[in-house]
Amino acid sequence: MSKENLESRAEKTLRDTDTYRVPVAIDIVAQRLNLTMSAAPLGEKVSGMLVVMGERGAIGYNSSHPRVRQRFTISHEIAHYLLHAKKGEKAQLFIDSSVTFRRDENSSAGDDRDEVEANQLGAALLMPKGLVQQEVKRNELDLEDEDAISLLAKKFQVSAAAMSNRLANLRMLR
Ligand SMILES: [Zn+2]
Repeated sequence: MSKENLESRAEKTLRDTDTYRVPVAIDIVAQRLNLTMSAAPLGEKVSGMLVVMGERGAIGYNSSHPRVRQRFTISHEIAHYLLHAKKGEKAQLFIDSSVTFRRDENSSAGDDRDEVEANQLGAALLMPKGLVQQEVKRNELDLEDEDAISLLAKKFQVSAAAMSNRLANLRMLR
């Protein structure tokens, strides 16, 4: 899916679930998509998972991770649900280790394509382009300033690193 399509898919999903505001209530997005959620002790390596069966799905996320990271995991699993789940009779399982979250546009392997897409849509759901631009403008933020990025990250309840990546992807950083 092209970048533009991912951006509009994210915005449409948030508007359809009436969650297009800052910070994005990612739990509500999941609920309104018929996804149940539970925190679980998944160990050190697993961040989250998604089980899909027919029109229903369940997300599990690591109970020991900080909240900003859990939000990113939940968003990533929602993205798999929207993009990669086949809504058939057979149950499907997605498991995400901490490593898959590092896959970005620079990953070469074709097998990683779904993970790159889930990371991109996941980021777009938590930090929708239109809302990021709106907050930067409204708060007159100078994005050359690290404090401004931290402030923006706080508003969206994401990590500063996630916000920084997102701003770079949106070409909002010089
Ligand atoms: Zn994944």
